[in-house]
Amino acid sequence: MANGGKYSILFEPVKIGPVTARNRFYQVPHCCGLGHLRPRAHAAMRAMKAEGGWAVVSTEEAEIHPSSDLSPFPEQRIWDDHDIPALRLMTDAVHDKGALAAIELAHNGSHSANHLSRTPVLAPSETSIDLVYPKQAKAMDKSDIRAFRKWHKDAALRAKRAGFDIIYVYAGHRMTLAHHFLLKQCNDRTDEYGGSLENRARLTRELLEDTKDAVGDSCAIALRLAVDEMMGPSGMQASVEGREVVEMLAEIPDLWDVNVSGWSNDSVTTRFQPEDGYQTSCIDFVKQLTSKPVVAVGRLSSPDMMASMVKNGIVDFIGAARPSIADPFLPAKIRDERVEEIRECIGCNICVSCDNLGIPIRCTQNPTMGEEWRRNWHPEQIAEKGREQDALVVGGGPAGLECAMQLARRGYEVTLAEATGELGGRVTAESSLPGLAAWKRVADHRTYDLSQRGNVKVFMDSKLEAAHIGELDIRNVFIATGSIWRLDGVGRSSRTPVEISNGASVFTPDDIMAGKLPAAGPVLVYDDDQAYLAGVIAEHLAVLGRMVSFVTPASMVSPWTQTTLEQTRIQSSLLEKGVSIRSHNQLKMIGPDHCETACTFTGKIQALACASVVLVTERRRVSQLFDELQLAANTDGGPHLATLELIGDAAAPGLIADAVYSGHKAARDFERDRAEVEAAIFRREMIALSDI
Ligand code: ADP
Ligand code: SF4
Repeated sequence: MANGGKYSILFEPVKIGPVTARNRFYQVPHCCGLGHLRPRAHAAMRAMKAEGGWAVVSTEEAEIHPSSDLSPFPEQRIWDDHDIPALRLMTDAVHDKGALAAIELAHNGSHSANHLSRTPVLAPSETSIDLVYPKQAKAMDKSDIRAFRKWHKDAALRAKRAGFDIIYVYAGHRMTLAHHFLLKQCNDRTDEYGGSLENRARLTRELLEDTKDAVGDSCAIALRLAVDEMMGPSGMQASVEGREVVEMLAEIPDLWDVNVSGWSNDSVTTRFQPEDGYQTSCIDFVKQLTSKPVVAVGRLSSPDMMASMVKNGIVDFIGAARPSIADPFLPAKIRDERVEEIRECIGCNICVSCDNLGIPIRCTQNPTMGEEWRRNWHPEQIAEKGREQDALVVGGGPAGLECAMQLARRGYEVTLAEATGELGGRVTAESSLPGLAAWKRVADHRTYDLSQRGNVKVFMDSKLEAAHIGELDIRNVFIATGSIWRLDGVGRSSRTPVEISNGASVFTPDDIMAGKLPAAGPVLVYDDDQAYLAGVIAEHLAVLGRMVSFVTPASMVSPWTQTTLEQTRIQSSLLEKGVSIRSHNQLKMIGPDHCETACTFTGKIQALACASVVLVTERRRVSQLFDELQLAANTDGGPHLATLELIGDAAAPGLIADAVYSGHKAARDFERDRAEVEAAIFRREMIALSDI
């Protein structure tokens, strides 16, 4: 078996306390919206990482007790012995593929609302909980601390019985009791658990010692510590207390898993941090202070960077959450010297948004993520073609590219026709905007893959009409012609068009992305899409020197981006660039030199001076070709088609992730029995009708 060639250093085994990892690839804990509610899907997803070559595969945070209840979000749960069988599914599946299984034990303190358990929320000091909900946390007394230590120890014993090899103490993301005790901003106690850093670190030390004592004979004990909160002196800093904590506890854990906090810094998007390896400067001191192995993250998907981080003594393990989601087979591809096949994470945080929505994980780059069990999808394998020989895909956006790539992998002769001179569709267009350059990887990965195959013909500058399809004489047609932005202001808040006066200058995002910009003068960007694009366009125009007003019926800029952890950064970036924001207002009238907006609560009309308007409201499907073919197919003189399918934004405009998924699914379902596809939507995990 190949050993990675020039990257062989990444395939050396590493000892972690009593266990040994087969290589240096370490899937750190990450949420996935599967958790305790969907244990089979969870086990299959983690096992896919193990099959892809990761040496360690971790759970998401695992609630150790009902007083740490993150409902309605389905994280992992290890409240009592009844949780063991579900966790066993994962450890068995991961072991079966040769990896070690890790569990991140967590008590979320004031980060959990205990909605389900209705138990009091616990914290080092009295405080409001970390969610907008009228509930406060109780300051823990000594008996609470003793009880908490026992819960943690019991959970560690259960984790061992569930088959885990590595057991975490979790002090990160401002999300756990151990971290809350460590941070002076969360801990104003005056006893031996508060005050000096040594006192604040006491609980973490005790948890480590308790865990070691309970299970350290056969399990490795890891500490996940956020060494920097990226908020200067208002939080923990790597150069000050972060460093001191590592010095203090240096040899106690068997493994240091170090990162930055909060989650929006740890999992920052490429829009705000385009550099891969962005955490290195915050964590590079850790290895100098401990003899124990160190794992760190930072969207690491370049094998050169990984190898140099190991060679330069910065880390022992390459940690990854998102790169392992985008490509579960990343280690195998490096090992087998197929680096160019890696599906690189684009840093869009659609995966993160799922956790924030409490839904199963999905990924823009990897449409099989979260579908391993329920649809039996494998990221690297797909059924061979059936009786049909060829297929035509019309449109080279994310849906068309993915569909063509998967059809080609199945062995069909694939023809891909694209109207313009460039592949990528909306991905190419959107990636030209500020901060979104990495999104181009969605097109690049697929374009490269198609270029390597002998059974694919790509026709550029080929805008197909219904008549052409008959001439091509291909029986199976997938239409991925995408969508265009509306020019009439109809959107989420208004089903009637905005009044547009003569002489008004109105643009859509398609114009801006095509380089057709408003003339000089103030520009109003109207956002009734409420996702990300209006914010990006406002930023783009502000950077170009335009005076920009941002108007939205929502209460904030780009509210959906709260799920991707970007909203605060987006709004502050716009404010810093001088963009004026008018929220809670609907656009009513666009004139040549001003607009009128109406308050969404009172209806009060206000004027706003502007020379032009960009409407970011809703998209229209481009489905004319499909509609025409549907009428003409298999009629006299019409094309003879066995398959005609509409996919991607042309079927239903959505996220890029949705378009990729749609193209993937269409390719998988091609030549499957229609009734079977419709009957088996996907496998579900039913609640057992038994009580405990
Ligand atoms: P999706 O997200 O569904 O992939 P996009 O809008 O990103 O949709 O991409 C649609 C692609 O289809 C664009 O690149 C567009 O140029 C192309 N296209 C649209 N109509 C036709 C057509 N009739 N023939 C060929 N290509 C087309
Ligand atoms: Fe990366 Fe986006 Fe996939 Fe998450 S959803 S792993 S950020 S490509």
